[in-house]
Amino acid sequence: MPVLGTGFFFGYSISPQTLTARSFAQARQNTQVAIPQSFIQELLSRVDVVDIVGRYVQLKKGGANFMGLCPFHGEKSPSFTVSPSKQFFHCFGCGKNGNAIGFLMEHAGMGFVEAVQDLANQVGLQVPQDDISPAERERQAQQKQKQATLTDVLEKAGDSYRKQLKTAQHAIDYLKKRGVSGEVCKRFGLGYAPAGWHGLASVFPEYDNPQLEESGLVIVSEEDKRRYDRFRDRLMFPIRNVKGECIGFGGRVFGDEKPKYLNSPETPVFHKGRELYGLFEARQALRDMGYALVTEGYMDVVALAQLGFANAVATLGTACTPDHVQKLFRFTEAVVFSFDGDGAGRRAARKALDAALPLATDTRSIKFLFLPAEHDPDSFIREFGSEAFARYVGDATPLSRFLIEAASDGCDLGQTEGRAHMASNARPLWSLLPDGVLKRQLLSEIAALAQLDSRDLSEIWAKEAARTAPARPRTAATPAHDAPPLGEQPPAWDAPPAWEHGGSWSDMGGLSAPAPDYPPSGYSQGGFSNHSAPQGAGQNAYGQSSGWRGNRQQGFGRDKKPWGRNKGSEWNPPPLGPRVTPGTRTDQAARLLMAHMEFMEELTHEDFDALTHSTEAHGALFRWLEAQFTESGPRSWAVLREQLKGLPQQPLAEKLMNSVHAQPEGELDELRVELRGVLNRILIEHIKQQITQTIQSMSTDPSATQRLRDLYARQQTLDQQMRNLPSSS
Ligand SMILES: [Zn+2]
Repeated sequence: MPVLGTGFFFGYSISPQTLTARSFAQARQNTQVAIPQSFIQELLSRVDVVDIVGRYVQLKKGGANFMGLCPFHGEKSPSFTVSPSKQFFHCFGCGKNGNAIGFLMEHAGMGFVEAVQDLANQVGLQVPQDDISPAERERQAQQKQKQATLTDVLEKAGDSYRKQLKTAQHAIDYLKKRGVSGEVCKRFGLGYAPAGWHGLASVFPEYDNPQLEESGLVIVSEEDKRRYDRFRDRLMFPIRNVKGECIGFGGRVFGDEKPKYLNSPETPVFHKGRELYGLFEARQALRDMGYALVTEGYMDVVALAQLGFANAVATLGTACTPDHVQKLFRFTEAVVFSFDGDGAGRRAARKALDAALPLATDTRSIKFLFLPAEHDPDSFIREFGSEAFARYVGDATPLSRFLIEAASDGCDLGQTEGRAHMASNARPLWSLLPDGVLKRQLLSEIAALAQLDSRDLSEIWAKEAARTAPARPRTAATPAHDAPPLGEQPPAWDAPPAWEHGGSWSDMGGLSAPAPDYPPSGYSQGGFSNHSAPQGAGQNAYGQSSGWRGNRQQGFGRDKKPWGRNKGSEWNPPPLGPRVTPGTRTDQAARLLMAHMEFMEELTHEDFDALTHSTEAHGALFRWLEAQFTESGPRSWAVLREQLKGLPQQPLAEKLMNSVHAQPEGELDELRVELRGVLNRILIEHIKQQITQTIQSMSTDPSATQRLRDLYARQQTLDQQMRNLPSSS
């Protein structure tokens, strides 16, 4: 005590969150479980959002609602309300809102399934799981029980380590030397594992209990089966999951012995590739400071917290994984990876780049910080001060620049070969990015660096992607659960958008077209009043277009002779030489429909929805065409043209039908195939946009997971159909 100040070790207690969290059932985080929508509704009707939020936020009754200080943004007077009648929370300060499930995901950092399970446990409901055998359920229950027991064991060991620290003078001296205060020490629950082989025997009288081995605290010798403590004479850092439960330890030596850090092994509760040290402790700071600083060691995290950067976390002696990055993005939209300036640091940064690329959406910020070779964050701040460090962080290398640096590594950009090599290095990195503005801009940048037209580069890469893509099975129906694992896979956009079928750079929707009006996500938009009935998962995001006649047959292929004959029909790719913009796919669809209005019959709800979402002008034209068609059936272009006179739709219609691409000519069957192809590409593009949007809403919108699954499944079906269309093989 004397060295670290009064009150250092006294009154140490676990935070209220921790205590509550400890009664939670363990998450089965990466399990894919289809939870029926009816169950979600029932669950939400049984829990009270006021209780759930009240566990984390102090609430006071104010009128019909409860008020409190918003846990999502820093504030002094309450603008955070919880409505018992609507079962929603809403912050008038930062706009965060949602139901009980959303709150647990957002605030406690749980995944959707985890949050549902948590709530279900509280009200004694069993989460129904399709296709799960009683034996499997039993196994899962046992697993859950085991995990709860293991965290109890680890917690008990942690308590003991903390007590031991009080009397371990050399450990206290070390902390003092590193400038770690009692307060910070307490916040991170630091402890001391005494020297000696059986220190834990005094904590656990049954030293041969297999749980000690399973939790990684005790090692059993292979030779003589003797048992001994894993951590001896080390400074102990308890590793907590996002709920605050102790799931493992990191132990640091005091001198130069090796290994400097020793970690708990992988156990049923501890997975290095998924957990981040300090995340639980950093949660509030992540919101206050607006970004996460990812460092390389436990001591960095503690030292940074001491120096005013409580938003630091660390990987656990492993390379950064996409799971890590995704976990961080549940708490913040900006991540800065910090590395030592040496070769090992660069290599670690490359791995972090790979992990971060699939999650680098346009709304997120990812940066890379390289410290001067002789510094770690701690020493940097001690030498130059916190403000200098904050500036240094602000100037960190953005992901886009680091990607280009990484691709150019070892390439002489002054030489043609070097530029070609750079482009070839860049492709696999670039293709990991989710579709969006960043991705498209990067393509131009890489092309400029390679001294190519971005269209040429795009073509080359598209061919390359087609050549190297794994062959996909040509089976018919693909069940929905074959969709890519959520969160691990970005929307598939491995190749640049297809040029060869009448596309132009500006017609890809993302850059030039106004943002489509996405279907309401159920939680994230609007105020309280719109949400009296919580919506949930299970709604297809497509097929929601209202005002469309309900009796139209879904899907295609209803025609007598759908795509059967392939009489040499061709796509007539626009010539690549003279760069005349052939208009967008939507333009082409409009031309076909105006020239052959009977094709309106071919449109499904989904087609119509996608078409009307392209641009306002196109939307108005398609709606008008549909109305005409419904009223009086198909007419020729000459008649349509007369009827359009003076209408707002006229200029676009005239422009399309009088352009150099003129009116589509060819046999009806061929044109029908062409229309289907164009429509499918529009649909795929539309779905991709929705996928991007849905992934972004995943942290706040519990229904997003299911919607994403539906979207992936639909995309897969459409891709399949594209491959089976006669002329696109
Ligand atoms: Zn707020």
